[in-house]
Amino acid sequence: MIDTHAHYDDPRFDGDRDELLSALPENGVQWVLTCADSTQSCEAVARLAEKHPNVWAACGIHPHNASRVDWAAFEPRLCQYLARPKCVCLGEIGLDYHYDFSPRGVQREVFAKQLALAAKLDMPVSVHIREATQDSLELLRQYRPRGVVHCFTGSLETAQILLDLGLYLGFGGAVTFKNAKKPLEAAVFCPLDRLLLETDAPYMAPEPFRGRRCDSTHIRCTAEKIAGARGITAGELIRAADENAVRLLGVR
Ligand SMILES: [Zn+2]
Repeated sequence: MIDTHAHYDDPRFDGDRDELLSALPENGVQWVLTCADSTQSCEAVARLAEKHPNVWAACGIHPHNASRVDWAAFEPRLCQYLARPKCVCLGEIGLDYHYDFSPRGVQREVFAKQLALAAKLDMPVSVHIREATQDSLELLRQYRPRGVVHCFTGSLETAQILLDLGLYLGFGGAVTFKNAKKPLEAAVFCPLDRLLLETDAPYMAPEPFRGRRCDSTHIRCTAEKIAGARGITAGELIRAADENAVRLLGVR
């Protein structure tokens, strides 16, 4: 299994981070993409990836932190992170109008700059969209990145638009939540060659771990839920999702 979206620089892993990451392969998780969300986090995930052979990094600025970054000053530093061999993706980037931790105009500007950079460097992106579908689609149509919309919980109509743009859809613990039908519907709707599995650890632990700290080994619960709903085996689903991750991120 491959976890295409986690946050292993999170303080909740401070007590056991290295042991947990080293043990992932023997627990069935071949490798994980750990995603940055801030300027400090870029350094942390890059170092983690360089320390652990089975960890790869995504560097970028999350919409929550868009107003904390001086883009002109940070862009050359971000380019340096993205040039490091273990950094294979630009993320996590996007728009979040649910929390509005940064003003929406600033979020759009920082998202657009990072999409432009991804195009220039020909790097895949990991995109976060929350309650900002129309504005996100507008920018994705404009910049046409390769990449994944992670933790997809939108409508089938939005899913189809993203698929038509060539993007992958990432599914995590939300598909197992009893009160949320849409994520699982989308995970059944998504073509098998465009589906990625993820955890968003330490957040979004799937049932039966909901509410606890999530780690990459929980990805099996998500895979089993989607496979069951699609009428295939978990093994078939995991094989397809892993092939997609390798194709998109260029990691084996
Ligand atoms: Zn995330």
